[in-house]
Amino acid sequence: MLQLMRPVEMLGASFREILQAAANLERMMALAREAPEPDVSPAAPGGAARLLPGCRLEVEKVSFSYGDGAPVVDDVSFTAEPGRVLALVGPSGAGKSSLLRLLLRFYMPQRGDIRLGGQSIGALGLKQLRQAVAVVPQDIVLFDDTIAFNIALARPGASHDEIEAAARAAGVHERIAAMPDGYATIVGERGLKLSGGERQRLSIARALVKRPRLLVLDEATSSLDAVTEKIVRRSLMAGAAERTTLVVAHNLAMAAGADEILVMAKGRIVERGSHRDLIRRKGLYARLWREQMQSGDEKA
Ligand code: ATP
Repeated sequence: MLQLMRPVEMLGASFREILQAAANLERMMALAREAPEPDVSPAAPGGAARLLPGCRLEVEKVSFSYGDGAPVVDDVSFTAEPGRVLALVGPSGAGKSSLLRLLLRFYMPQRGDIRLGGQSIGALGLKQLRQAVAVVPQDIVLFDDTIAFNIALARPGASHDEIEAAARAAGVHERIAAMPDGYATIVGERGLKLSGGERQRLSIARALVKRPRLLVLDEATSSLDAVTEKIVRRSLMAGAAERTTLVVAHNLAMAAGADEILVMAKGRIVERGSHRDLIRRKGLYARLWREQMQSGDEKA
C-alpha cells in the first residue's frame, strides 16, 4: 500500500507544481500587459534626448484617435506642477485611460506635445521615460516572495532603508512590521494574503521606491472601503513634494483632496478646479458627485 502511495504522492506534487507554474505564467502575462510596448517614436538624429531635471508635466493641445476613428482625446491642455496632485475624472469612455496611455507613450498623439521637465517625451528614450514615471496599477501583481522583494521590484538593488522609507510613505510600514517576519514575510499566492487596501498601499510603496518624477495612480473601479480609501488617499498625497502626482479616479472621493481636478467628457476637459470650486459650479462634476453620494447611501 505504501508503495502505491508513493507515486500518488509524487503525482500530487507534480500536479501542484503544474498549478504553480500556471499561476506563475498568469502573473507573467499580467506583467507583460503592464510592460512597455515597442518604442514608437521616430528615431531622433543623434539618439534619444536626455531627460532634464524637473518634474513639471505639460500637456499641450494634445489630440489622439485610435486608427481612423474620432478623437478620444481632443485638444487637451493642462500643466501639473511639481509637488501638486492632479486628479482626472469623468464618465466611462471619457478618454482618461487613453490620456494615460499617451503619457506613458504606449501611443503617440497625432497632435500636440507632452513634456516632462520641459523635455518632449517623444524625444526621450522609452527606457528613460519609464524610469522617470511610476504607475500604481489597478491591481498589484504580487510574487511569492518577501514583502521587501515585492516592494523593491521597481528598483532592484534598493537598500532596506529605502524600501522601509517607501513603505512608511505609503502608510504600510506598521502593517508590515506587525507581520510574522516583517519585511521578510512571504506574500502572494502561497504566502500571506493581503486585503485590497494593503495591496494598494504596497503598490504605492513599490512605485515610491523608484523615486519617480511623475507618479500616476490608476485607481481601481472596484472601490475600497471608506477607511482604507482615506489611508490610501493620505499616503498618496503625503510627501508628494519631489514629484508630480496624477490620479485617474473612478471614485470621486479619491479626487476630492487633489489640488486640481480635471473633468473629462468625450475626450475634452470640460471643467477644472478644486473640489469646492467644482461643486459650486453645479456642472458635470457636481452631478457626478451627487450621483456617487446617492449610490453610496443606497449601498449603505
Ligand atoms: P473608463 O472610466 O470606463 O475606464 P475612460 O475614461 O478611461 O473610461 P477610455 O478607455 O480612454 O475612457 O476610452 C475612450 C474611448 O476610446 C472609448 O470610446 C473607448 O471605446 C475607446 N477606446 C479605448 N481603448 C481603445 C482601443 N484600444 N482601440 C480603440 N478604441 C478604444
